[in-house]
Amino acid sequence: DQVANQIAAGEVVDRPASVVKELLENSLDAGATKIRVEVEGGGRKLIRIVDNGIGMVRDDALLAFERHATSKIRTSDDLLTISTLGFRGEALPSIGSIARVELETRAAEEDHGTRLEIVGGKLIRVEDAGLPAGTTFTIRDLFFNTPARRKFLRSENTELSHVTALVTHYALVHPDKHFELHSASHALLIAPPVAKPAERIFQIFGREMLDQLMPTAAERPFDRAGLPEPAPWRRDEDWTPPDPGMLRMTGFVSKPELQKLNRNSIYVFVNQRLVRDRLILHAVSEAYRNVIPPTSFPVVLLFLEMPPHEVDVNVHPAKTEVRFRQQGAIHDFVRDSIRTTLIQARP
Ligand code: ADP
Ligand code: MG
Repeated sequence: DQVANQIAAGEVVDRPASVVKELLENSLDAGATKIRVEVEGGGRKLIRIVDNGIGMVRDDALLAFERHATSKIRTSDDLLTISTLGFRGEALPSIGSIARVELETRAAEEDHGTRLEIVGGKLIRVEDAGLPAGTTFTIRDLFFNTPARRKFLRSENTELSHVTALVTHYALVHPDKHFELHSASHALLIAPPVAKPAERIFQIFGREMLDQLMPTAAERPFDRAGLPEPAPWRRDEDWTPPDPGMLRMTGFVSKPELQKLNRNSIYVFVNQRLVRDRLILHAVSEAYRNVIPPTSFPVVLLFLEMPPHEVDVNVHPAKTEVRFRQQGAIHDFVRDSIRTTLIQARP
């Protein structure tokens, strides 16, 4: 089983940022409104995530490290309508098999919490502990027992930049939540809750960047052919959930003057899940074709929302890849909606 976990770990965890991703998603699934991430040595030495979510009682804390022990899927039908970020029950056993893990957690209704320690897949300590409500994971010495994998880690700065990009992504999609990122004693990000995505962009990237971005929004029913109708819609206090059957895109796209050398500033979320999707990236480049040179890239933040059965998130354990049921429709919707925003903005 330890071997199975280590093999699975190879799929789920390839660097500190993927550990941070799994733990962050768990915190969000647990309803946390405040998430603090600390790393040392770019995450190779230490990763700590503190959340104020629902926490776990002792039995659940122990169960969390069992393979496929997800609390999020009860029937196979649930697989088709996943709305939580995690669902495979693979992350914690994987992480536990390749690092030294300390879990401290208290469910709000309990008067004491649980502290447990897992090293290389083995439970070596469980005890009661006085703790604040919520959950703290501390991951030390990633890959300490899999030297071959440790060799693939890049420099501290490279690993830290991946962690930073990742926390930034999640902070952008959840402006209503408090996010912090610290590296050793440096605060890299402190973002208290704000009401609008634009305010979060300001918090993270500053006024200059915000001035270069245009809001974009479009919505269309899935089964209707033809051009999308841009809706004057923003994800702010007027927000309402999308109708069932609707495809919705909101976000920000950069003015033609702002150009980047690579794709790193294209952020895409599908149903609040961070994705790296070639189809969407292609749609974005198509939208900017003849607007910026083919060697440059825009800054784009896209939040796509659609019915869960329209998108298969089960393609890969790391879950950054997705498969859309109606690929062509999604591609053209994204391309045409961005195009519309770019054309409307023309002087
Ligand atoms: P999954 O997220 O796919 O269910 P994980 O291995 O990531 O699987 O987590 C296993 C289980 O541990 C989760 O289903 C959840 O019940 C529990 N868990 C993990 N992290 C947290 C957290 N931060 N707060 C509360 N419960 C958690
Ligand atoms: Mg998970």
